[in-house]
Amino acid sequence: MALDELADWRKSHYTKDITQEFIDKEVILGGWVRNFRDLGGLKFINLQDKYGERQITLKKGVVSDEIFDKAKLGYQYCIMVKGKVKRFDKAPGGIEIIPSKLKILNKTPEKLPIDMTGETNSELDLRLNNRALDLRSLRSQAIFEIRAEVLKSIRNFLLERDFTEITTPKIIGSATEGGTELFPIMYFDKEAFLTQSAQLYKEQLSGVYERVFEISPCFRAEKSRTKRHLCEIFTLDLEMAFADMNDVLKILEEMVHNVIKDIRKNKMPALKILKMDNKTIVPEIPLPRYTYDEILDLITKEFKINVEWGEDISTEAYRKLGEEITGYYYITHWPMLIKPFYIQPSKDPKYSESFDLQMGWLELTSGGTRVHNKEKLIEALEEKGLNPISFESHLNAFGFGMPPHAGFGLGIARWITFLCGLDDIRESVMYPRTPDRLTP
Ligand code: ATP
Ligand code: MN
Repeated sequence: MALDELADWRKSHYTKDITQEFIDKEVILGGWVRNFRDLGGLKFINLQDKYGERQITLKKGVVSDEIFDKAKLGYQYCIMVKGKVKRFDKAPGGIEIIPSKLKILNKTPEKLPIDMTGETNSELDLRLNNRALDLRSLRSQAIFEIRAEVLKSIRNFLLERDFTEITTPKIIGSATEGGTELFPIMYFDKEAFLTQSAQLYKEQLSGVYERVFEISPCFRAEKSRTKRHLCEIFTLDLEMAFADMNDVLKILEEMVHNVIKDIRKNKMPALKILKMDNKTIVPEIPLPRYTYDEILDLITKEFKINVEWGEDISTEAYRKLGEEITGYYYITHWPMLIKPFYIQPSKDPKYSESFDLQMGWLELTSGGTRVHNKEKLIEALEEKGLNPISFESHLNAFGFGMPPHAGFGLGIARWITFLCGLDDIRESVMYPRTPDRLTP
């Protein structure tokens, strides 16, 4: 069978637009066949588009023979339908469409590589191999609708509070935090790197625009094969001038509260598809705050897990912690020893003005008050064994009236994983990058 041409057909609406007010009106819909049932004299097409689905009903004798016979469809065929809207309570949206014309624009193999009916869940790697198809599944649609809502809600929240959206370079000449874990690239005849965070640039820009944020990719060349690490991550980076850690803790918890409120208000159907409608709930704020020392006490005394003071908390200990403290909470005042050079030491310089936002066992955010005094920053670099000369252009900005400032970085994919109740972070990214995956 030859395929139809698009020609002068254009969609008149998306499925979500077709409500009860459209009864008896003619519409043109376009999308993919989520489901096709042939009951002999009666055929049903579930046509999905980016927003949802509507039922197309073909009853022999009611529709023309030509269109009835033409409707031999497979899952995920790309089709367009012209037809009249009718009321039908049992169909999605309480609506069915009685078609007068049908275009088959593209076909699929008889057997799709992954299950698209929503009845079973194919293995994640197989789904990722066929990602453009998989993203049309009900489950993936729900995840990325929630992600879009999260990003929109974050932007709205911050723009309403005088934050300026910035963009900073992703190709950099030297290591941001002096760490390893950078992807080197060739920049003409020189070596350069993909950025691991917007840290230094957002700090500089807080000395211009005062309150700044950026939502952008950064790159971590970690060979961690966990269910919470990716090599290309998408983070919300925020920085506030004339502020310290306490101001940041406040704005972050308000943002978390607001974003979840927005998801519940605007994306309840998606939460229901993911069975998260009773789990993704708005946390009470202020969030619980624990110091690193308090957490260490809990870990060593209650859980009897050995962590030396000044060490990072092990995954095993975090897991136990997540059983004890299930919601969102802060861990503040980490040892300076395990914090980067730009973090402000506390009055007792063993500690730092830093925090993590945790959700159960998972780290979502790291942040803190920054050093804004140039001499202190140079000392801090030297203490961490870094060469101030490699940070010359950054330090330069600190000679021109850098205000006190504080901020955080939040992993968007980590948060989506939690909000959507996913087992593996790769499911929360359209095209994840891991040590084992570079395509599609
Ligand atoms: P972790 O210890 O969990 O690997 P980190 O402390 O190295 O994370 P930060 O440098 O603090 O990470 O980055 C800020 C946030 O970005 C983290 O709190 C986390 O939500 C997210 N993030 C960091 N690394 C990754 C990664 N490899 N994959 C996904 N998200 C990440
Ligand atoms: Mn961190």
